[in-house]
Amino acid sequence: MADNFAARLRPLYETGKFPHALLFAGDGALGEAADYAVKLYLCENEDKPCGSGDVCRSCDMINRGIHPDAVRVKDEMPDGSYKIKPLRGLIDSGSLRPRGDVRVYVFEAVDEMSEQCQNTLLKFIEEPAEYNRFIFSAENVSRVLPTVLSRTVRIFVARDERAASPENAQVSEIVGAIAFALARKSEYETLVAFSRAKDRQLFADVLKALLEKLRSVMVSDSVSAKSAVASADIVYKYIKRAEVNPNMAIATTSCALEIYAAYTAVRA
Ligand SMILES: [Zn+2]
Repeated sequence: MADNFAARLRPLYETGKFPHALLFAGDGALGEAADYAVKLYLCENEDKPCGSGDVCRSCDMINRGIHPDAVRVKDEMPDGSYKIKPLRGLIDSGSLRPRGDVRVYVFEAVDEMSEQCQNTLLKFIEEPAEYNRFIFSAENVSRVLPTVLSRTVRIFVARDERAASPENAQVSEIVGAIAFALARKSEYETLVAFSRAKDRQLFADVLKALLEKLRSVMVSDSVSAKSAVASADIVYKYIKRAEVNPNMAIATTSCALEIYAAYTAVRA
């Protein structure tokens, strides 16, 4: 599991394009992904981050939850849920210099935050002090303000990474047809391809495999990467919808249209 988000984070890190704000989205091991990113920011080793075994002083402190520059915001809240007052206090202390070169704020379950809290947060991340970094996680990105989303680089983490890589020939055939239709910008072919996912399980498998395919092109600056990011939110929404027994004809049609619209809306 770790390998998958690591595979998406490392290229960013190694090309020196590691962002100030990351958001892990999806139903997978978001905490594990966040820990990995915290270490990428704070690890003292040349080859970041330390794995198991001999670890650097920073990673050791992160593992023990005592690193002074790794701030787990949710744990700092009085009863473990985001409230405006303590959040403001914490944000104010963000203007103080960290112990080391950078300080990392981890905001878990940012989708549980009220709009007011998210707006407060926005000011914090809009003009960050040079030494502050931000890691967010959210199962449901549709509950995160677009203004917050737009300031983060999103990395999707799925629950079962293996389920997302199609072994089933039918699934991979349909996903291939969808990708082909999107690349050709054919709305009609996108609809036809989706309509082949007739039952709920097949639809869910197709969406998971599609999400995996989109993810593999997300970590670049190309137009197709932007299209992938825009479409992935919709794919994720329909994966959730497939869990609650939708009318399949309506679900596949509206899913196809929404994905097509999102994918083709992105301009260079
Ligand atoms: Zn380390």
